[in-house]
Amino acid sequence: MTNSFQAKLACGCLVGDGGMGTLLQGAGLPVGICGELWNVEQAGKVVALQRQYVEAGSDLLLTNTFGGSPHKLNSYALSDRTEELNAAGARVARLATEGTQTLVLGDIGASGAILEPFGDMEFDVLKVQFSRQVRGLLDGGVHAFIIETMMDFGEVQCIFEAIRSLCDLPVIVSMFFDTDKQNPGQFRTMYGDTPASICEKAESLGADVVGSNCGLPIDAYVDLATRFKEATARPIMLQPNAGLGRPAGNGTVIYDDPPERMATRVDELYNNGATIVGGCCGTGPDYIRQVRRIADRRLGREN
Ligand SMILES: [Zn+2]
Repeated sequence: MTNSFQAKLACGCLVGDGGMGTLLQGAGLPVGICGELWNVEQAGKVVALQRQYVEAGSDLLLTNTFGGSPHKLNSYALSDRTEELNAAGARVARLATEGTQTLVLGDIGASGAILEPFGDMEFDVLKVQFSRQVRGLLDGGVHAFIIETMMDFGEVQCIFEAIRSLCDLPVIVSMFFDTDKQNPGQFRTMYGDTPASICEKAESLGADVVGSNCGLPIDAYVDLATRFKEATARPIMLQPNAGLGRPAGNGTVIYDDPPERMATRVDELYNNGATIVGGCCGTGPDYIRQVRRIADRRLGREN
């Protein structure tokens, strides 16, 4: 039977959501406070923020659980609440999408631990930790998973195995790339992977969608789309930042590209091979409205 997510993918042109961190801070989340805690303590605020993406036209909404792994939550002494905070994150996102066709992606980011042999974290220990996050997201009712902003494919594999130990829901693998300074137009992760090597590894794992998010503005993503398209027949998901980003001095980063600037190149992302286009750091509902407008035009829907 085709999963609801796979059925949606079949239309060939989907809209993701935008950044969450800046929205949370804009709604009053103090810097240094765990954003996942708001899934329980300020659930109404998180629903209202995520509802903005649903109303802007997101086909897919990410749960507010990017930092919801036990290792990450441990820095706030919250790791014993892993299942609770992730289940709440999934329920909050389901509430934000209520009455719509928007599907909820269980969002999993890097743990912050470094796997052997580069660090001292054992693969099997980390996998057990991630399975607690997966369990919570499943309990809360996600439709699929996204493993995102990843630099180490070893950790992607660890998360993927944790997901597969508990369910067979679709999985998106999305990596963080930087430009390859030696080779213009080429890209590498911090661990040295190219889009081609990532596609090969993600396909052999069984990822349903491959892609990239964060790190670079849309101009770079136009080339990145082509690198992905050359390397895989899987659907591709791309979520650029709203510009390169520059330090604001108080520990935050300012992203300068306005929604209209990003909108000028969204068509090229789809033309070069993207099936799903969303936004990462610095993007908000206004950016997603622009992507929706372009996607609707491509789909032959009147605006
Ligand atoms: Zn980002």
